[in-house]
Amino acid sequence: MFRSLHMKLTLILLLLITSLMVVVGAFLTINVSSFFTNTFYQQIDSVFGADQREFVSSLRGEAAQEDGALRIQQMMDAAAGRLGIDYSSRNYFVLDGATGAYLGGSADESAMPREQSPNLLTARNAVLRRDETGIGDVSDVTADYMDAAIPIFGGGNAFIIYILDNRDTVSGLNEQLFVIIMQALFIGLLISVLLSFLLSKTMVDPIEKLTAGAERVAAGDFGSALPVESTDEIGILTGTFNEMAGVLQTTLAAVENERNKLDTLFLHMTDGVVAFSHDGKLIHCNPAANDMLQRPVGPQCTYDELFGSIYPFQEMLALQRPNFAEGQLEAGDKTLEVYLAPFSDRERGGVLIVLHDVTEQHRNEERRKEFVANVSHELRTPLTNVRTYAETLRDAEGDIPLDTANNFLDIIITETDRMTHIVQDLLTLSRLDRGDAELVLSRFPFAESIRSVVRSSALNAQQRGHELTCGDLDHLPLIVGDRSRLEQVMMNILGNAIKYTPDGGHIRVLAGCEEDTVWMEVWDDGIGIPERDRERIFERFYRVDKARSRESGGTGLGLSIAREIVQRHRGTIALAPHEGPGTTIRMTLPIAQGRGGQTEE
Ligand code: ADP
Repeated sequence: MFRSLHMKLTLILLLLITSLMVVVGAFLTINVSSFFTNTFYQQIDSVFGADQREFVSSLRGEAAQEDGALRIQQMMDAAAGRLGIDYSSRNYFVLDGATGAYLGGSADESAMPREQSPNLLTARNAVLRRDETGIGDVSDVTADYMDAAIPIFGGGNAFIIYILDNRDTVSGLNEQLFVIIMQALFIGLLISVLLSFLLSKTMVDPIEKLTAGAERVAAGDFGSALPVESTDEIGILTGTFNEMAGVLQTTLAAVENERNKLDTLFLHMTDGVVAFSHDGKLIHCNPAANDMLQRPVGPQCTYDELFGSIYPFQEMLALQRPNFAEGQLEAGDKTLEVYLAPFSDRERGGVLIVLHDVTEQHRNEERRKEFVANVSHELRTPLTNVRTYAETLRDAEGDIPLDTANNFLDIIITETDRMTHIVQDLLTLSRLDRGDAELVLSRFPFAESIRSVVRSSALNAQQRGHELTCGDLDHLPLIVGDRSRLEQVMMNILGNAIKYTPDGGHIRVLAGCEEDTVWMEVWDDGIGIPERDRERIFERFYRVDKARSRESGGTGLGLSIAREIVQRHRGTIALAPHEGPGTTIRMTLPIAQGRGGQTEE
């Protein structure tokens, strides 16, 4: 209840008024009392003071008489006005100097105090010493009366004039003052409550508006600035608040913008990004990471189950930036390179992980190694043969029959040819790989090339007892391509069909065109290609039956060269569906080539 500014304001005003009234009341009461006390003793002094000898000596004269007490009483009555004797609250008494007994006065004896006051004792002591100056006129602020006792000596008589004020007048006045102050306090309190309402209107309303504005801003509504209605501190505060809200809005927009940028980046980047909070819970995973990890990654996933095997989470958090950890992860058939780094501090940060798919790199590396091993192997076999036969010839020193020697020399020449063949094929592949082998493009009749290749292979096929037939080639268009290389491809496909078909087989060459492509198929009823090898026959040095391939002079590079050449022409070469024993290889080529290569018309 007392939390509201309005209540606080009211309370402050009430306290202020009350304390003001208390101070004023106390001040007035004390001052009124001391004013009365001072006046009382001034009046005593104006009658009995050292410079009022006349009155005092008259008193002494009267005191010396027989009826001194009565005479003194008469003189005191005469001086009553000057002494402020009002016969009710202030009276005088004439006492016997020796005994202090009541002899007369403005009131009867019952008005005397029962106890002897210090001033009265002072005067009685003075009487004993017969000391005329021993007046008892010391004020006692704690007493509820004011008094003064004056010893009067006359002849052998001694009297004491005792003046007593019971302070009723002061008390009455103070009571009245109290009532006035209470009334003033009551009115003051009423005014303060009213004032607090008015003040709260002018002070609290703008603050309440400011609070409502702050709540709107906190809820993200930057729509309208608060009106600045005054030039005082609250006005300045409202202005500053508006500025702050503006800056906040700009900053939030910038942050939002940055976040959008990052979101877009994470969404489309090819590297995977995964983030975990400081307690190891997943907070972000982009689509690339989802693909790479090959498992559903959701908010329930923890660091430990995904990457715990690479680097412990707590050690990761303890890493000092810019340090990072890296490792490798096998996810399904993918090999991932993983980079892990902590972000922010231990309490609020977490761990950010970048995944890089290196499956292809790994495969390439494997292929490269396999390729080098294959090349070495392919060259070592003929080299060993050459060396063996050459050494045999040398060591025989002419003991060897001429036929056998010639046979050996034929083998050496064959093996050397094979090596030359391999090296030439490797060179061709290497040029195709590097892009050095520019295609020499020309427009030529596709049918003519096929016929020429079929013609060249006819003798070979005939020797093997194959029936080589060619389909209708009449309606084939002119195509653009590197004629000699494409014929090399056709020769290879047809050569394979002849090679891998047992003697007396059947080989058919078919061709046709579809919209903007031409195709050629070489069909045979030979040994065929087992299902498990169909995917791989276009790989370098891949051969289904190494011995058979080598026997027939194959290098295992023909189809890979063919594929490179066809792909450079933006065509395709692949195994086509085949019914029964044998193989069908199909090549498609675009009729026209795009840019690239040089054209010879
Ligand atoms: P090679 O020089 O060994 O013939 P290729 O690259 O031309 O090399 O062919 C790769 C492999 O594909 C061959 O070794 C062979 O096993 C297989 N192959 C190619 N064509 C045929 C075919 N028509 N019939 C059966 N197997 C074939």
